[in-house]
Amino acid sequence: MLRIAIQKSGRLSEESLNLIRECGISFIYSSLKLKTECTNFPLEILFLRDDDIPGYVADGVADIGIVGENVLVEEGKAALTVERLGFSKCRLSLAVPRGSEYESVQDLNGKNIATSYPNLLQAFLDARGVQAHIHTISGSVEIAPSIGLADAICDIVSSGSTLISNGLREVERVFKSEAVLIANPELPQEKQEILDKLLFRIHAVQRASRAKYILLNSPNDKIAEISRLLPSIKAPTVLPLAEEGWSSLHSVVNEDDFWEIIEKIKAAGAQGILVVPIEKMIV
Ligand code: ATP
Ligand code: MG
Repeated sequence: MLRIAIQKSGRLSEESLNLIRECGISFIYSSLKLKTECTNFPLEILFLRDDDIPGYVADGVADIGIVGENVLVEEGKAALTVERLGFSKCRLSLAVPRGSEYESVQDLNGKNIATSYPNLLQAFLDARGVQAHIHTISGSVEIAPSIGLADAICDIVSSGSTLISNGLREVERVFKSEAVLIANPELPQEKQEILDKLLFRIHAVQRASRAKYILLNSPNDKIAEISRLLPSIKAPTVLPLAEEGWSSLHSVVNEDDFWEIIEKIKAAGAQGILVVPIEKMIV
């Protein structure tokens, strides 16, 4: 049995649970439970505060975990990043009150900065030769300047709207983060094998999430031209239509290239284009 630690309730929770479900792994979930055993895969899920996850994985209480890179690096625990998961993207930034003067990071010399990430902030300031007073607080960092607790803050930002609504201006990006799958560096063989199976499934889910299945009708004399425009794993599938002189082409396209390809194949004579999501993709 492999044990995974995920955040009990917070911004990582839903996507972490979704990822496990998309891997075809079933479990009974209750927000009151602290752990649950999966029914069709040798995995046990522990629900924890995100700050505790790197430590539990490093100590072997959990074998693997899902956590924000910001927390992983802040905690400085010996856990390996095995996969970047692409969700909960955010950044750790320095912000100052909107009206205050700020030219460069040197302006923070001698200032008070409130943050929940003292280690990441200290490393950033040290690398730039800035000496400031760091006040570690565990939450509501963005109100620190308005209550006179600090001259600046260093906090998590995604859209920046929280900063704006608190009269703050983002001035430096300290750290870029996303959710990562971490593992204990010394997993025994049998647990490593379960992790490898899980990673195989995660890769299939991740590949599928960026890909779309495309079906279209093409006049037979345009098949070669349209096929050249369609990327595919090997070559597009070509099936005859019931109507003489027409074929159906099937292929897989990447979401990023999608609109550009659609325009080109339409111009080349494609009709009846259907685009459908792919659930799993193994290449
Ligand atoms: P806990 O109670 O588990 O300690 P928390 O309050 O410390 O939770 P959350 O606010 O739920 O943590 O954030 C968890 C992680 O999600 C953060 O460490 C960060 O990696 C990411 N995150 C935070 N804010 C955002 C955001 N606005 N957009 C995207 N990701 C975010
Ligand atoms: Mg936390």
